[in-house]
Amino acid sequence: MHWADVEAENIKARTPHVATGVAPSGPIHLGGLRELLTGEAIIRAAGHGKLFLIVDSIDPLRKLYPFLDESYEEYIGKPLSDIPCPCRDHADYTEHYMERFLDTLQELKVDLSIKYAHEMYAEGRYKEATRKILDNREKVSDIIEKHTGRELKDDWYPYNPICSGCGKIGRAKVTGFQDPYVLYICDCGHEGKADIGTDDGKLPWRCDWPARWSILGVDCEPFGKDHAASGGSWDTGKEIIEDILETDAPHPVVYEWIHLKGQGPMSSSSGVAITAEDMIDMVGPEVVRFLILKSKPNTQIDFDPGLGILDLMDEYDDHEKDYFEDGDEDKARTYELSQVDSVPEKKPQRIPYRHLVNLVQIYDDNERIWKVAKDTGQIDEDDEKDFHRFEKRAENVKFWLEKFAPAMVKFSLKEELPDVKLQEDEKDFLRSYSESLEEIRWSAEELHRSVHDCAEKIGLNKGKAFRTFYKILLGENKGPRLGRFLSQLDENFVKERISEVIEN
Ligand SMILES: [Zn+2]
Repeated sequence: MHWADVEAENIKARTPHVATGVAPSGPIHLGGLRELLTGEAIIRAAGHGKLFLIVDSIDPLRKLYPFLDESYEEYIGKPLSDIPCPCRDHADYTEHYMERFLDTLQELKVDLSIKYAHEMYAEGRYKEATRKILDNREKVSDIIEKHTGRELKDDWYPYNPICSGCGKIGRAKVTGFQDPYVLYICDCGHEGKADIGTDDGKLPWRCDWPARWSILGVDCEPFGKDHAASGGSWDTGKEIIEDILETDAPHPVVYEWIHLKGQGPMSSSSGVAITAEDMIDMVGPEVVRFLILKSKPNTQIDFDPGLGILDLMDEYDDHEKDYFEDGDEDKARTYELSQVDSVPEKKPQRIPYRHLVNLVQIYDDNERIWKVAKDTGQIDEDDEKDFHRFEKRAENVKFWLEKFAPAMVKFSLKEELPDVKLQEDEKDFLRSYSESLEEIRWSAEELHRSVHDCAEKIGLNKGKAFRTFYKILLGENKGPRLGRFLSQLDENFVKERISEVIEN
């Protein structure tokens, strides 16, 4: 059974509310998508329910991130919702980063209800939970001390006011609670009071999290393994919701990080990240979903935006086959859950992504590429929808070539014979190859085998034989896998290029 179906079994009986969260402190990367798509897959598997995305917009800007200019220094410590947006086109900082992320989610067809934390506080939705937590502050303190081993002072209050003097959060010392006011003195010297029924302040994270479960009636929540560690905020949150807020804790789904090949876990603050938008542009929305859904949440995903993309795309096409040809059930289910629109009526005819990598560099028009695919038997019949899918994939390939592909897969086919000097043995090899072309089929395998055969026949080093082709076609010493590459080129073009060389 697919993991999303297993998780859905736990909560299906209710109309499940699944919660996810996001910190809008910078561009939202692929790692951030894992939480959301994990939650969404569980709802899809359950067949009904509601997905929340809670935006931690009242949290402070913690530091000057590499993508911010120095003018942001003065905003460190202020709630994100009170900070101007970097491009000045959005209402605030939060909206600046959320807008693109929400566009991305739309492309992935993720249906959700978005909740901004600063609005929930402003609307008074946290009031009851905040009151219970403040009324029980000793018990809350004991729970946190027990799980974390941290010692809290006797006069600790589980509440962080936003200072009305300096506008910063987390700098003030709370001196008392006179319902509904939390009294405080800030580092800046300001003395004030915060109304718990407003956005004058917020609960600290370990209390905020269980409070939002009770407010939104959350039945299930996927969260990163940091929260799940022993003494982490899951342990304390579970006890706070059960003992203080007297509500059931949600069903937890712990997920692992996405690692970027050779660089470690993705994180926007360290700059090790691929944004969600880039990911869609390079593989299309279905394969973004597929990347996340094919692995169980508790397994690390190793992501390689270089050559790894070719394997990922092949893997997707294989799962498609499993779906349409009664193959592996879990794989078929992964494919089904990866779809953005309804599943295609019949198995799409595909040109593999790795073949398109060559084709889009050889031909600049899609009709021509489609024809080559038909001539080489990859496409059996014209189908408008398949052609449309192919065009989208061709766009993805071009984006990947421009932004992420390693140099080794890029080439430029020379329309005219490049200015290269060939040695006699190289010309002999081409003569022999030219003769063999009269006998073999124009297929990747035969074209490749014939390079070996002809090189052997005239006693030429095989590496040199391959290089001869790259020289006369690309003006380079290396290029894409030759058999496949030649088969994708126009047969007459190749034959004429060879004759031009040997007749010189
Ligand atoms: Zn202050």
